[in-house]
Amino acid sequence: RLYNEVIELKGNIRVFCRCRPLNQVEITNGSNYVVEFDSSQDNELQIISSDSSKKQFKFDHVFEPEDNQEAVFAQTKPIVASVLDGYNVCIFAYGQTGTGKTFTMEGSPENRGVNYRTLDELFRLSQERSGIMRYGLFVSMMEVYNEKIRDLLIESSNQPPKKLEIKQTAEGTQEVPGLVETRVTGTEDVWDLLKSGSRARSVGSTSANELSSRSHCLLRVTVKGENLINGQKTRSHLWMVDLAGSERVGKIDVEGERLKESQFINKSLSALGDVISALASKTGHIPYRNSKLTHMLQSSLGGDCKTLMFVQKSPSATDLGETLCSLNFARGIE
Ligand code: ADP
Ligand code: MG
Repeated sequence: RLYNEVIELKGNIRVFCRCRPLNQVEITNGSNYVVEFDSSQDNELQIISSDSSKKQFKFDHVFEPEDNQEAVFAQTKPIVASVLDGYNVCIFAYGQTGTGKTFTMEGSPENRGVNYRTLDELFRLSQERSGIMRYGLFVSMMEVYNEKIRDLLIESSNQPPKKLEIKQTAEGTQEVPGLVETRVTGTEDVWDLLKSGSRARSVGSTSANELSSRSHCLLRVTVKGENLINGQKTRSHLWMVDLAGSERVGKIDVEGERLKESQFINKSLSALGDVISALASKTGHIPYRNSKLTHMLQSSLGGDCKTLMFVQKSPSATDLGETLCSLNFARGIE
């Protein structure tokens, strides 16, 4: 339980900020770089506003554009590992579309992200503990789009599609009856499963990136543990959530379907911010029921559950407004 002792000292909510590199278009256009990192501090950054004034932000950790997936996972690992001790854990990637939420969570075959690395680490640790604990790992994947839940593993399971709703159990936890749960036993299964889930995410849209930026993608790992010495059983959830893009969409820019979508996104992202800030400030009422997202995660947010938020940002002057919005959102939940 070494990991948990370290975490408990610091509280249960962690915020990491990750800045992507300038992309090819920004380099070609000569976009200015509006972020400064302090090489002696790994938890601070400064944003240079258009009037050259600087705003400082502090997080639990700040990743610079040069920090690779391995460096990011090195900081994430202690938090995900606590699911094997029976803690519920939620990891979110928040930020404007194009800032690297999917890169951080999913990554690519050459640059695998938090999702895959986490499962890999859970397999490794469960092997390491096999003398005292027996673990079973089960994976589910779903999408929340316009407050509707869709199973992303239903196709690969060869089952007919079902209408999914959140149900309250007798113990007061939340379940999604009918959701596909696939047992995974090693990293070989996992990459293909995650791939088929994320492929299903873009079904029905003309452009994959379009729809995926307007829905929340939730990967849930259920860990069932049994202590081989005293027979004690544990069951816990680890959620890894690639959130919809946080960019503000003006009423002037869009109408109809697109406007409805952006209202659903705003509502659920602010509901998430409200829940986490209520937890951080230890106020009485936690407004879980204001969105499908927070309702679904209710038993995994708060109490002794662990929360990690990746706030993803762009370094470019052209994204300054959205960058400040994201950093302020993150500051509000600390
Ligand atoms: P989002 O999911 O937030 O919309 P993506 O993850 O799709 O953003 O990232 C947008 C683009 O930027 C992708 O081509 C991705 O590979 C690239 N990218 C994002 N973050 C990084 C990073 N830290 N290092 C290198 N490339 C990155
Ligand atoms: Mg994405």
